[in-house]
Amino acid sequence: MITSQIKKVIVLFGTRPEAIKLAPVIFELKNNANFETIVVSSSQHTDLLKPFLQIFNIQVDYDLQVMTDNQTPNSVCAKVLQGLDTIFAKEKPDVILVQGDTTTAFAGAFAGFNRKIKVGHVEAGLRSGNLYSPFPEEANRRLVTQIADFHFAATNKNCEVLKREGIGENKVFLTGNTVVDALHFVLNHSKPSEKIAKLLENTRNFKRILLTTHRRESFGDKMSGNLLQLKEFVSQQTDTCLIFPVHPNPNVRKITNEILANCERVYLLEPLDYIDFTALMKESWLITSDSGGVQEEAPSLGKPLLVLRENTERPEAIESGVAKLVGENSLLEMLNANYIDESWITSVKQVPNPFGDGNAAKRIVEVLKRN
Ligand code: UDP
Repeated sequence: MITSQIKKVIVLFGTRPEAIKLAPVIFELKNNANFETIVVSSSQHTDLLKPFLQIFNIQVDYDLQVMTDNQTPNSVCAKVLQGLDTIFAKEKPDVILVQGDTTTAFAGAFAGFNRKIKVGHVEAGLRSGNLYSPFPEEANRRLVTQIADFHFAATNKNCEVLKREGIGENKVFLTGNTVVDALHFVLNHSKPSEKIAKLLENTRNFKRILLTTHRRESFGDKMSGNLLQLKEFVSQQTDTCLIFPVHPNPNVRKITNEILANCERVYLLEPLDYIDFTALMKESWLITSDSGGVQEEAPSLGKPLLVLRENTERPEAIESGVAKLVGENSLLEMLNANYIDESWITSVKQVPNPFGDGNAAKRIVEVLKRN
């Protein structure tokens, strides 16, 4: 009788989006007798990460605790490499799974490569085309591609990118994006907190604009310009309101307080857990965001999204019609145009999600089982 050997898999994350997107994979691995799963958090973000571990009931086996004030990509990288090496020596895993394009993901992949441990890259094949934007994420994702053994791509476009860059067809797997799995889970299993339920109740007669912005490329004039235009729009259109969970980064907090504190119909919140945030997305009139994950979630919720970026590594969101890139355009003009003519806002309600069908994690685990 042939008995299949149990594979030991390390799953590594360090930031909010990685935890959200790896939670469904951890769930599938833990429920599969073919795997022993070890969860490692770099804690590249700490406070932002905690609520997500609770929602998805993730137990962290090793916490590398890399976060410090004013951390740099180099300090995160050095600590993750060092910390993982000790864990590798003890656990001797067969595979390490990393997600996306953070410094944690790059360092995890590189640490695995150096020890000849197989590397699986979840959300492979995204490219903005500009090495410096988003920074350092575009470089991180390209570097992981060079050393990964399994490339789990969300879309056909992502698969094509990888193949064009010389990755063998047998290493590229079209799985969909695991964020769609996470979103389905949360939408099916949970209700918003009392605080958010109350906010929704208080704003029920208003067109809600939900904002997130925290990316490095948005800091400074770009961010203040966006906030000023949103402020002007909401003050002019009195049946609208702005809801903004403000990222803890001081570059975001300072400008936000200067521009948006104490404005009528502007709600500044602490960062929200995934249940509350998805509830707000679902009930919004329009979303404006520089986030990557939000571009992948908006289609499932049928919500129009104005992307606060110069470019996007997720063109599928634009092509599907759900998102529009603000780029050099005037955000205020775009808001006004869609306020006057709501045809785009209405049209996105029925768009299928180009990023996945909610079964990505199952496909990833199946590939790991077979290989
Ligand atoms: N998100 C959240 N609470 C918030 C803001 C965002 O749960 O207050 C979620 C959002 O739904 C998405 C993810 O966090 O899944 C995006 O994280 P972020 O914007 O930090 O990273 P990116 O997606 O740009 O890598």
